[in-house]
Amino acid sequence: MQIKWSLKELYHSFEDDQFREDVKRLETFILKIKNWVNDNTISHDYEKEKLEEYITLVKELMSIHEKLSAFAALTLSVDSQNEAATKYDAILEQKMSQLAGTQAKISSWISKVEKLEEVISQSDLLKDHRFYLQEIVREQKHMLSEKEEDIVARMQNTASSAWVNYKNLLIATHKVEIDREKKELPLTEVLNMAYDKDKETRKKAYMAEIASYKKIEEGTAAALNAIKGEVLALCELRGYASPLDMTLESSRMDKETLDVMLSAIKESLPLFRKYLRKKAEKLGYTKGLPFYELYAPIVQKEMPFPYEEGKAFIEKNFRTFSDSLADFAKKAMENEWMDIFPKEGKVGGAFCYGLHSIGECRIMLNYGNNLSDVITMAHELGHGFHDQCLNAESILNIDSPMPLAETASTFCETIVKKAALKEADTEETIAILEAEISDYTQVIVDIYSRFLFESEVFENRSDGPLSPKELNSIMLKAQKDAYGDGLDEDYLHPYMWTWKPHYYYASSNFYNFPYAFGLLFAKGLYAKYEKDQENFPKEYEKLLATTGKESIADVAKKMGIDIRNIEFWRSSLKIIEEDIEKFLQI
Ligand SMILES: [Zn+2]
Repeated sequence: MQIKWSLKELYHSFEDDQFREDVKRLETFILKIKNWVNDNTISHDYEKEKLEEYITLVKELMSIHEKLSAFAALTLSVDSQNEAATKYDAILEQKMSQLAGTQAKISSWISKVEKLEEVISQSDLLKDHRFYLQEIVREQKHMLSEKEEDIVARMQNTASSAWVNYKNLLIATHKVEIDREKKELPLTEVLNMAYDKDKETRKKAYMAEIASYKKIEEGTAAALNAIKGEVLALCELRGYASPLDMTLESSRMDKETLDVMLSAIKESLPLFRKYLRKKAEKLGYTKGLPFYELYAPIVQKEMPFPYEEGKAFIEKNFRTFSDSLADFAKKAMENEWMDIFPKEGKVGGAFCYGLHSIGECRIMLNYGNNLSDVITMAHELGHGFHDQCLNAESILNIDSPMPLAETASTFCETIVKKAALKEADTEETIAILEAEISDYTQVIVDIYSRFLFESEVFENRSDGPLSPKELNSIMLKAQKDAYGDGLDEDYLHPYMWTWKPHYYYASSNFYNFPYAFGLLFAKGLYAKYEKDQENFPKEYEKLLATTGKESIADVAKKMGIDIRNIEFWRSSLKIIEEDIEKFLQI
């Protein structure tokens, strides 16, 4: 059985001649691009030829960089102490940041190409990169001068980046005192107790956790204020109407779409609250569910799934969808593309890393022999399949915006969950449904509360820094508005802003609504599939191949979906609501 992934398709080691050579090649390329941009942006003659040359150069640069950085990152993920990998990971990042000023310069030049469309239409290479070039022009409107971009990039190293590191340090070393005399526990361990089967443990962990934040609230609030302040300042300098506008633009999504999606979500909140009150009742509460019971297991039964069985289950059920999906999974499973089991030094969680330069991917799992692990494996294979659909595209056309990045993964999860429900007994069915609805509650209701919180924080931060007390009260209000009577008002979570990493990403704000978008979009696609199983799979592959080179609305239109129409979002939510109704009945 193959349980570890192979990286030799990239490089044999960090001492490998090929690796060293590629590092040199990357350096040469960076210099080459810098010089090329300096030499060729002086005048506007030979625009077509210059654009072709530039694209060819960047494609090659991206390809070398992907191979090198993937090798460092993948090595680190299964061997977090690896010194060579740590070193090269930092070196590669630093090298690429040298291109910030150059990028500003070429972007400015490209946006001054007067008849860009006409120039593009004269070349197949440029036609294939139309969206890429249009994006450069669009973003250029918000770019500062070459020198300013360079200064901003450098200053961020000691501003937002430094604040994130500081906040990460605070959270990573934060200890929670559970029982007065007993030892203190790391925060992650205490957060995990929310899944404990013992009610008292869950409550005790929550009370201790909330009390513990007093020690770090000033520091984390300082970090949040600094980062949000920097975002607001840059937003103004770059001429965006608001941080939300900036996020929407980088998500290739319009405000109209966001508004209808949020309206549909608001309409669905009462049913989620009904589910939460039902769960509360089941656990013996009368005033709604306390926050610390959100993840509480209702039944103790998980469907056991040893790895070999999980593999076979996935391949079998993927095949009911399409041969190309099942064949892809088989290829990944049989060709050492996956690192399966937990081991010392390996990071937690799971991910899929696309390797466009060699037309493969690598998937990291921490497989633990249960249905939830099979679902995670299906999720990551979904990402891998998405990558495969993008293999024929140029490396400059493969970046999907956040809202579309989870389409294929959520879709594959749905295939496997539906199949598992067919084979489950009543207890297992309750367990599967409850786990699923609990996830939906996070992605819809909690995400909505996070959106409200972040909006309010930006609103208030523009007048000055916020105290921990103010942040707490904004959080409580957001939770009340989203969860309503589903949660017990006396046991909410005022400090959710401290450890949720998403609030601290200086370069991606509102890293919340894309999750809801992803889930609902994938559900909507699945509903289409159920109506037309014959033709859907081929169309779906075509859709996945275009996620990196079209706006979200255009990608959706391919499947006849109008994301600006509230009915689409309502119909996706309806699928979720049916699961909730089914659960409420059992
Ligand atoms: Zn994912």
